[in-house]
Amino acid sequence: MKIVKSVAEMQGICRELRTRGVSIGFAPTMGALHRGHLSLVQRARSECQTVIASIFVNPLQFAPGEDFAQYPRTFDEDCRQLEAEGVAVLFAPEAKEMYPSGAVTTITVSGIGDRLDGASRPGHFTGVATVVAKLFHIIAPHRAYFGQKDAAQIAVLRQMVQDLNFDLELVSCPIVRDADGLALSSRNRYLSFPEREQALVLHRALTEIEQSIAHGERRSSALLQIGRITLETATGIKVDYLAIVDARSLLPEASAERGALVAVAAYVGRTRLIDNLLVA
Ligand code: AMP
Repeated sequence: MKIVKSVAEMQGICRELRTRGVSIGFAPTMGALHRGHLSLVQRARSECQTVIASIFVNPLQFAPGEDFAQYPRTFDEDCRQLEAEGVAVLFAPEAKEMYPSGAVTTITVSGIGDRLDGASRPGHFTGVATVVAKLFHIIAPHRAYFGQKDAAQIAVLRQMVQDLNFDLELVSCPIVRDADGLALSSRNRYLSFPEREQALVLHRALTEIEQSIAHGERRSSALLQIGRITLETATGIKVDYLAIVDARSLLPEASAERGALVAVAAYVGRTRLIDNLLVA
């Protein structure tokens, strides 16, 4: 696996791949890799001739006071895992390579970017959209792979791809979980043993909502009440949001119909975790 740190070199490699007619699958990450990230790479491998991954802890998507400095960085182990999955090229630029001094252009997806995590973390999705747009320009993949775990991120990026005419397919991959239901996340590394147990309530609340839907309850108000009781009676949990929304616009839905997104964000101790389900 080739490790590339410079934008110019990465662009040169991708230009040559495209000239040769090689299809490029791209999986962007912030590193501290787990099976969720690797599932994106595996899917890319199955659908594209070459796979490029990136590791970049993007300062622009962290607000002051968030966990940018503490974010787990496990570069050597990440490289081993990506190589074992058959990644051809890893793009791992420094922050100053992506944001040289004087760079002032950002991308804001209005409306959608201000909902769910965008409401709790103002500016977060401008950081995400800006870095992903830059990565798309540098790599120009045929397909780009993202996890359904970050459902609001997918909604923001789909809108950006549509509005800015990116010539690529954005592929959403299912949430990978531990055996007990906890959605894999790089931030799970922050959890103490008791906190990890407490964190299971996110999945439990979603599962209860899912079961109520299966039993015929579709009213969002009733479903959210069920979820809220579970979350609010759990110890060590501070709910950020629990919402039933349209998966594309992220606007609230009065009724949880097929394809609606049930999304939750909560603090377990100081760690903010997210999870969601798509109504079947
Ligand atoms: P991150 O490194 O957290 O920015 O995530 C990089 C990509 O991996 C994003 O598209 C995430 O949605 C995806 N991802 C993270 N966790 C999971 C998971 N548990 N299952 C599937 N995809 C995931």
